[in-house]
Amino acid sequence: MKPFRYHRIKTLQEASHLTQEPGAVILAGGTNLIDMMRLEIMNPAAVVDIQSLPLNQIETLPSGGFRIGSLVRNSDLAFHPSIQKEYPVLSQAILSGASPQIRNQATVGGNLMQRTRCTYFRDGISPCSKRNPGTGCSAEHGYHRSHAVLGISDSCSATHPSDMCVALAALDAQIVLEGKKEKRTVPITEFYLLPQNTPWKETALEPAEIITAVDLPELPEGTRTCYLKVRDRSSYEFALVSAAVVLEFNQNQIQKARIALGGIAVKPWRVPEAEKLLHHSTPSKKLFQTCAETALKGAKPKKDNEFKVELAKRVILHALSLASKTKKE
Ligand SMILES: Cc1cc2nc3c(=O)[nH]c(=O)nc-3n(C[C@H](O)[C@H](O)[C@H](O)COP(=O)(O)OP(=O)(O)OC[C@H]3O[C@@H](n4cnc5c(N)ncnc54)[C@H](O)[C@@H]3O)c2cc1C
Repeated sequence: MKPFRYHRIKTLQEASHLTQEPGAVILAGGTNLIDMMRLEIMNPAAVVDIQSLPLNQIETLPSGGFRIGSLVRNSDLAFHPSIQKEYPVLSQAILSGASPQIRNQATVGGNLMQRTRCTYFRDGISPCSKRNPGTGCSAEHGYHRSHAVLGISDSCSATHPSDMCVALAALDAQIVLEGKKEKRTVPITEFYLLPQNTPWKETALEPAEIITAVDLPELPEGTRTCYLKVRDRSSYEFALVSAAVVLEFNQNQIQKARIALGGIAVKPWRVPEAEKLLHHSTPSKKLFQTCAETALKGAKPKKDNEFKVELAKRVILHALSLASKTKKE
């Protein structure tokens, strides 16, 4: 690990001021950042420890829904009674990831900002434009079984690793950013950027800004949800494919649907064309199959990750079937 300056701050203003410094990064739970620093993939000049900020509350919003502070630990969020009751998809997604010890330490903000598990990015030596701009993408011609098939470019096909963020995408969560003059809110669907030719620019976060909260809109009565994750082993493993499904029902009719995919895309991936097919529909296996086919239409698999396309269709089909049977408690 390379030497760095360490700042433990007490106010948002201090955090904002110190993160303007080139090479400064935020430290929350440290479960990802410290790994990155040990591997010397991230070599910050300064580490700004925000753990003393009062951002660990889960509160109801006046407009309905909840505001989750960015320092809320992943376990506390997953086991919060209102989250388990109102947003079971979010609890399921969080509890499908990492281990209890990591979830006890990891924060919401850190989960949103965790770096990809792409082996070429993490080995520190392979050409990788995300780590070393302009060096290319080793997955283009190298082994790429774990890589993305949606949203990719010649410069990068690294997947976004988070489970929690897939559920947040299906819930239409909003990311609250503070630190610059104006506090602003960005929909999660716009928070993550496509790699295109600039894979090192991953999010809409600007210098001196930090994530202070995530807002969850209220779900209408009758909403049914499901998070389904498929991986190489049954625990302590990142997704090969995952799907978060949120279906708003009126009696036995689906009124609105939101589907987000993980493990196969460069960011938590919404599939609006597939979702539209479900609006004002009667659930059926045939409809869900058409929806799954539509969701994967834009996929660009290569030899080693071709299996993910069929796997994703099956995961979507199964998640939709499970969700349409599961009522919110
Ligand atoms: C062995 C292992 C297995 C794992 N398995 C899974 C899994 O299956 N599924 C899954 O989803 N995740 C998994 N994870 C990842 C884990 O969820 C993340 O490490 C964790 O969520 C990061 O949170 P943190 O608070 O520790 O972040 P930190 O390590 O403190 O920070 C991570 C990044 O976020 C930035 N950051 C943190 N907070 C903020 C903020 N408020 N504003 C702006 N930037 C911020 C930091 O600068 C840093 O770049 C695994 C991790 C490990 C080590």
